[in-house]
Amino acid sequence: MFPKKTIRDVDVQEKRVLVRVDFNVPLENGRVTDDQRIRAALPTLRYLLERGATLFLVSHLGRPKGKRVPELSLQPVTEVLEHLLGRPITFVPDCIGPEVETRAAQARPGDVFLLENVRFHPGETKNDPEFARQLARPAELFVNDAFGTAHRAHASTVGVAQFLPGVAGFLLEQEVAILTRALEAPEPPLVALLGGAKISDKIQLVENLARRAKALLIGGGMANTFLAARGVAMGDSLVETDALEEARRLLERFGEKLHLPQDLLVAQRLDANAETRLVSVEEGVPTGWKAVDIGPKTIEAFGQTLREAGTVIWNGPVGVFELEPFARGTFTLAWILADSGAQSIVGGGDTAAAVRLAGVADRMTHVSTGGGATLHLLAGKPLPAVEALQDREA
Ligand code: AMP
Repeated sequence: MFPKKTIRDVDVQEKRVLVRVDFNVPLENGRVTDDQRIRAALPTLRYLLERGATLFLVSHLGRPKGKRVPELSLQPVTEVLEHLLGRPITFVPDCIGPEVETRAAQARPGDVFLLENVRFHPGETKNDPEFARQLARPAELFVNDAFGTAHRAHASTVGVAQFLPGVAGFLLEQEVAILTRALEAPEPPLVALLGGAKISDKIQLVENLARRAKALLIGGGMANTFLAARGVAMGDSLVETDALEEARRLLERFGEKLHLPQDLLVAQRLDANAETRLVSVEEGVPTGWKAVDIGPKTIEAFGQTLREAGTVIWNGPVGVFELEPFARGTFTLAWILADSGAQSIVGGGDTAAAVRLAGVADRMTHVSTGGGATLHLLAGKPLPAVEALQDREA
């Protein structure tokens, strides 16, 4: 299920390795507030270090737009990584140039250098070949383990593979293999659970999943637009009027495969103290009210389909789960999924946060570390950073 070479397929012994990691972690007052992305890279880093490799770790953090932004320095990651790996890490205040080269010249097996935010250079997001060549300079091998940015053709994800043999790390391999298997060879029946705010950025995702799945259970803001396309009054709910035509087309094309809510929880404001009501889709959402969650009949119906599934791919919360009174649909479906025997594949930042809040993240088969990259893959689009790596047969 993974067509590219990985670190297992090449000689890494005492090699100088440029490792693209995804250390795009949340920071508050210069401290890392969530180290999950750093932890996710550890198996690859440990494997390389056990074989005496010298590591140059490259990552982006936030969107500095090609300029040095002190608040987006990767420096705070140094301490966290030192603690997790149990060895000293040298932070290098640039990712190319003399700072890196002097250190590379003196490096010994097992040394780890964490390079400064690669997006401080405009050449990164432009995939500038000269910048990629400079990034590649200190290394003999390129290892990509940054699944979260695999949908971006940047210098540190695609460009460097022109100058160095490129292979995948364990996280990238695992993410791609699990998501691809869920799509192409799932334990049947495959059911997709979709939500989130919008449909406009998920049309290809809906199409790809609808072609493969037995049922698509649709909730959240996404369902609002589908319901509106069916002629249901949606009051002040979030509805994407520009996507109504597309929603109609999807409903015609995939018809009974698309399961929409039968009832909705509505509120007058997006506020935990707001008054709420339950409405059926026949009566619709009154003016001045908005849909904030799926209702109990819908939870029951969706839950039943999840219990009968062999594989469930879940992307997007079915309500405004960040506010406790509107989280029941999302949490209850998370609990049902955790108790079901189905392979459960959770993708996307918000959905991962929701299953964590529901307390069942560790009972899912796989919680993807990617947001955009996960959507991209589930929509059936190739990932440029994976394409750029060496083929297994080659
Ligand atoms: P996305 O990034 O498209 O997956 O959207 C995730 C966001 O969708 C979350 O922050 C939810 O609060 C939001 N969301 C879910 N259901 C609704 C809804 N009915 N109305 C407005 N926002 C929603």
